[in-house]
Amino acid sequence: MPTETFEFQVEAQRLLQMMIHSIYSNKDVFLRELVSNSSDALDKLRLAKLRDDTLDADVSDLHIEIEADPEARTLTVRDNGIGMSHDEVVGLIGTIANSGTAAFLKELQEAREAQDSAATEGLIGQFGVGFYATFMVADEVVLLTRRAGEGHGTRWTSKGESTYTVETVEDAPQGTAVTLKLKPADDEDRLYDYTSPWKIREIVKRYSDFITWPIRMVNRSAGAEGEKEEAAAPETLNSMKALWARSREDVGEDEYHELYKHISHDWNDPLETIRLQAEGTFEYQALLFIPAHAPHDLFMQGYKRGVQLYVKRVFIMDDCEALMPPYLRFVKGVVDAADLSLNVSREILQQDRQIQLMHRRLAKKVLSTIKEMMTAEPEKYAVLWREFGRVLKEGLIGDTENRDTLLAISSFATTHDPEQPTTLASYVERMKEGQEFVYYATGESRQALENSPHMEAFRARGVEVLLLTDPVDEVWVDAVPSFEGKELRSIAKGEVELGTEEEKKEAETAREQRQEEYAGLLEWLKGELAEQVKDVRLSSRLTSSPACVVSDTHDATPALENLYRAMGQ
Ligand code: ADP
Ligand code: MG
Repeated sequence: MPTETFEFQVEAQRLLQMMIHSIYSNKDVFLRELVSNSSDALDKLRLAKLRDDTLDADVSDLHIEIEADPEARTLTVRDNGIGMSHDEVVGLIGTIANSGTAAFLKELQEAREAQDSAATEGLIGQFGVGFYATFMVADEVVLLTRRAGEGHGTRWTSKGESTYTVETVEDAPQGTAVTLKLKPADDEDRLYDYTSPWKIREIVKRYSDFITWPIRMVNRSAGAEGEKEEAAAPETLNSMKALWARSREDVGEDEYHELYKHISHDWNDPLETIRLQAEGTFEYQALLFIPAHAPHDLFMQGYKRGVQLYVKRVFIMDDCEALMPPYLRFVKGVVDAADLSLNVSREILQQDRQIQLMHRRLAKKVLSTIKEMMTAEPEKYAVLWREFGRVLKEGLIGDTENRDTLLAISSFATTHDPEQPTTLASYVERMKEGQEFVYYATGESRQALENSPHMEAFRARGVEVLLLTDPVDEVWVDAVPSFEGKELRSIAKGEVELGTEEEKKEAETAREQRQEEYAGLLEWLKGELAEQVKDVRLSSRLTSSPACVVSDTHDATPALENLYRAMGQ
């Protein structure tokens, strides 16, 4: 078979260039990425064999092996996992599948041009570059792989420039081996000698200790000069214990964070770690994480939501949607159930009663954690709300069971304070005497809302108004009737009645009088505008503008009308 040469996808090329020019200061993470991929490949093979025991693959000693050759300056990470077919190698390694990539790379480029290295690293961290991280330390990378069940293998080679080559090899061992030709070491770089057993041990321990497969270091040139080359017994570098099964006191925060990075492909620490251990008839353990940043594709179609599902330590699937409501799609983590069949499929899961119970319990646990965070760690909560508030508010629409908690943990921009968002509870505390409703305004921006004529009467009377500018706000305000018995009211709908009972009565009498006075004008206007409006009336809501358009209490707002129109309804 001839060697084929392919071009990297444009985005991939750009990312590779950045890797080669080392924009990320912590180069050690390349090894974590390789080990992480190998671990996934072993999980996948075990599962494939469980589902089909006729699969031609040996699963008796699944493991990861790291081998360094200091003389040749190569480092190899090998696994006997699922491997990749020729097409998978081309599809998975030559392209970046993440749909947020284009936007992300633009942002990254801008940060680099501004020579803002902190911002650059932060962005790279949010994205996680996976396999390409190898090009931070290697001049050339060779990947040899054979897909379980296939007869021949594939060799992929690249120097990280614009192309890579692929060739078919007749006999390749099961799984995948990635060999790095390390960049030349200079004196300064002594610390970064990735062929040193000491260094390898340290990196694996630090980043990959929780990996549940053995990570072995082989040192084939262990014998002294002149002695016959003899393989020293491989040394297992990791403790292999599933973190969620260990007791809380035994696990350091750092270890949780590394597990988070492994399952989320995020290079940053999570904002919050949540543990849950359910005992009794239906036993399961969960380790959930709230990321510190919203991913770029959170609002895109095809966003992969859900946590990883394990059954008795055996990996079953990524992105198990059945375990987490859509509005908690940013939550990452692992759920390990004791009593599920290893053969569960996504379709079955949706129907499974135990899964439904877990789903309920997990959602409640995440929400209660956020609620505690609000008082215990307000700064952390502020970050959470900034990153995920828009998604959480989607829960107000459908999840009536958790609506009260969701309302309690929500924050909104308000006329009360231009800097600080408010909770509904604080709004209610500040309500004026005689004020019955929680007032809000929906629209495109804070500025537009503040300049709206609807706001005048509220401003004049010092009545606080919530300023809702996310598209989802239009929808949930219609679904949520009230908060703690206080009805939510749009300032742009129906009659506004501000002030005390007495004031209202006075205003009403005054208005009736004026209504008579101006009857002629109103009739005339109504006639002129018959096509455009339902009614013309005198208003108490304006102080300086001469007129404004309002909707009936039950009509859709103009923004919502636009939304529906855009959706073709
Ligand atoms: P990610 O792990 O975030 O998907 P990577 O760049 O690390 O991104 O890897 C890209 C893909 O290549 C993986 O999703 C996987 O399908 C495939 N892959 C990488 N390494 C291996 C491996 N050792 N065995 C099998 N497949 C692999
Ligand atoms: Mg990876």
